[in-house]
Amino acid sequence: MLRNLIGGALLETETPMDVINPVDETVAGQVAFAGIAEMDQAVAAAKAAFASWRATSFAERKAVLQAISKAISDNAEELGQLLIKETGRPIGVAQFEVQLATQFLDYAAEQVLEPEILFDEPTRRVEAHRNPLGVVAAIVPWNAPLYLAANKIGPALIAGNTIVVKPAPTTPLTTLRLGELIADIVPAGVINIISADNDAAAHAVAHEDVAKIAFTGSTETGRKIMAAAAPGLKKLTLELGGNDAAIVLPDADVKAIAPALFGFAFFNSGQVCAVIKRLYVHDSIYDALCTEIAGMASAFPVGDGADPAVQFGPIQNKAQYEKVLRYIDIAKQEGRIIAGGEAIEGAGYFVPLTVVADISDGAKIVDEEPFGPILPIIRYSDVDEVIARANASPFGLGGSVWSADVEAATAVANRLDSGTIWVNQHCALDPAVPFPTSKQSGLGVEGGREGLYAYTNYKIVNIAKGDAA
Ligand code: NAD
Repeated sequence: MLRNLIGGALLETETPMDVINPVDETVAGQVAFAGIAEMDQAVAAAKAAFASWRATSFAERKAVLQAISKAISDNAEELGQLLIKETGRPIGVAQFEVQLATQFLDYAAEQVLEPEILFDEPTRRVEAHRNPLGVVAAIVPWNAPLYLAANKIGPALIAGNTIVVKPAPTTPLTTLRLGELIADIVPAGVINIISADNDAAAHAVAHEDVAKIAFTGSTETGRKIMAAAAPGLKKLTLELGGNDAAIVLPDADVKAIAPALFGFAFFNSGQVCAVIKRLYVHDSIYDALCTEIAGMASAFPVGDGADPAVQFGPIQNKAQYEKVLRYIDIAKQEGRIIAGGEAIEGAGYFVPLTVVADISDGAKIVDEEPFGPILPIIRYSDVDEVIARANASPFGLGGSVWSADVEAATAVANRLDSGTIWVNQHCALDPAVPFPTSKQSGLGVEGGREGLYAYTNYKIVNIAKGDAA
């Protein structure tokens, strides 16, 4: 049974919890499930560790983050296999996630936050400081447990904060194993990792000793967190749902771009916040691109990610699986299924890669986020009109424009309202590049220097000089 890391100790609880393997619904592993009492202990441990951690130098924090990154790299095989067990994802996707986690930690390790001199004049000297906030509660979803924990641990620690990490109830294995691997590397209480339910997470959000909430998850939960954080005016970073539009301009080379569009729509069986969820294709190439993408979707069966031949795994949990099946049923009424569309009999939460043509805005699977392997392909004829349609969504996480003419595509990208717009690519993540949110896709920024600043208290020291002194 995997244990919780609280105050440097690995703790069991009286509530063992089975984690379900979505491939066959057998037990993938067991964790010591924690509750509100353990959440309180974890917050107290993080609070106790804060004073000494904030006093460390950037070099000391860097060494700790590099040691965590090394622990992940040294155990990449085991962590990858655990990810496969709790998510069913293919080996390549699991390894990619492990690698991404180390990249984000390595980037954070290199950062320093020196005071900036804003003015140094005969009468005054004004300095801007970036100080740590205190205890960070990191609340993580199930679709990328390790990466989304690492991308919070890195900036939180390098800025001098301590942290309590809570993975999603259905995917605690890899994160708790990380806790075991780093228990002797990280000073006690600086990182605490506990497996707990939504109530314990909500308790952390409202806890008076938590200064900041770093949350990745659904927009619905994001709203609850924002409301619960209001009385304490806590600092928030909310990375929420997305409904990324990809716009294919008429000059695009259908055969050349189809594999990339397919890959960026169905990566991790569509369970990614920023994959293509609405594909707008110009009338002149609509039928040809539908044929190409449907052909690829039909050619890739879904299966057990532990099988090296499998490239697309199941839906991670039963509730999400049932939700995705409901969306597919609705899609049958709203459009024309050109690949997939039929539930797969037997154990496991498998949904075939599903492509829906002859569908438009206003349909549920276009306007909402199914968060599964369903791609609606929408016809358009006028570029101005399609920009307006893409922008009409309440979501604004990512988006992309595809064309043989990079300048033309960039001009369209500049008119789209989302945190990130990619040109001739999608969901290209880089720890040094900020990943902002907009509209109801969240609040604030993760990644890059901007994402690091979100873990700091911006403070001005304004000093009178000369006669005033
Ligand atoms: P979720 O909101 O159901 O759960 C996420 C986490 O929040 C879990 O750890 C859960 O225990 C916790 N939680 C639930 N209720 C809570 C409450 N009241 N207070 C505090 N914490 C609470 O999300 P999910 O279903 O696990 O993840 C899928 C969603 O995450 C999708 O909408 C997806 O788009 C989004 N997502 C966004 C990003 C991004 O960077 N913007 C990345 C990945 C996933």
